Amino acid sequence: MTDASQTEGSYCYRHPDRQSFVLCQRCGRTICGECQTPAAVGFHCPECMKEARASMPRVKPRVVTAFSRSSNAPVVTYSIIALCALVWVAQLLSGGAVTQALLYFPPWTATEPWRLITSAFVHSTSPFHILFNMWALWLFGSMLERMLGRWRFLALYLLSALGGSVAVLWLSPLTPVVGASGAVFGLFGAFFMIQRRLGGNSIQLIIVIGLNLAIGFIVPNISWQGHVGGLLVGIAVAWVFVLTRSPRKRNAQLLGLGAILAVLVALAVLGDITLISRVLG
Ligand SMILES: [Zn+2]
Ligand SMILES: [Zn+2]
Repeated sequence: MTDASQTEGSYCYRHPDRQSFVLCQRCGRTICGECQTPAAVGFHCPECMKEARASMPRVKPRVVTAFSRSSNAPVVTYSIIALCALVWVAQLLSGGAVTQALLYFPPWTATEPWRLITSAFVHSTSPFHILFNMWALWLFGSMLERMLGRWRFLALYLLSALGGSVAVLWLSPLTPVVGASGAVFGLFGAFFMIQRRLGGNSIQLIIVIGLNLAIGFIVPNISWQGHVGGLLVGIAVAWVFVLTRSPRKRNAQLLGLGAILAVLVALAVLGDITLISRVLG
């Protein structure tokens, strides 16, 4: 089911083997992470950079730091994995204190709302949980971050994590939860949407997602609610990216992401009020 018009422009024009979602702000061609130079707004491709330099021969040399230098390395993905690993070691060493401080328990939503997000960075002490999540994050995160760019990827990850927690609040409000699964399922959903848009085989992915959802329903102590919430938010975020891919629609993209955040916050507040009134009544 590959439409030729859809696959056009999904690969970097300088590296035809690299699929990417980012377009050059000036010429509109697709560019991979290595070919992106951050501009005042969005990214420029190497040719447009050269043209810009030629027309302004006396530009100051750009300050090059580890983070401003363009590279194709999925820095955000690696950072999240490193952070989760560090937190996990701290969980083991602290004998449960770190887990207790960061996990999400719906009745505490109003007093300690940060737990909606921090819970995505702690895992159960069994190595299986963190290993599985980090493996999926490494696999899908590095692909998506290269396609979307760092900031879009980070927004996708955090919104999906929030979506997972909000779903737990509504569907399983007395369960304490930990884990990156909601965010990881957001990546699954987003990857599916974007693959469909860029053209590519998503059958394999559907099988992986199906298996994972099934595991969540069958195996006890796995929050399928969080998985479903993350998946839906990941799809919604990717839908915004697909609709606003053109560099000219940057404001619409920010507005779309803001709208998703606003809906999730409203659902969290509403869910919390419902939960409190149920406990009191
Ligand atoms: Zn260009
Ligand atoms: Zn390239």
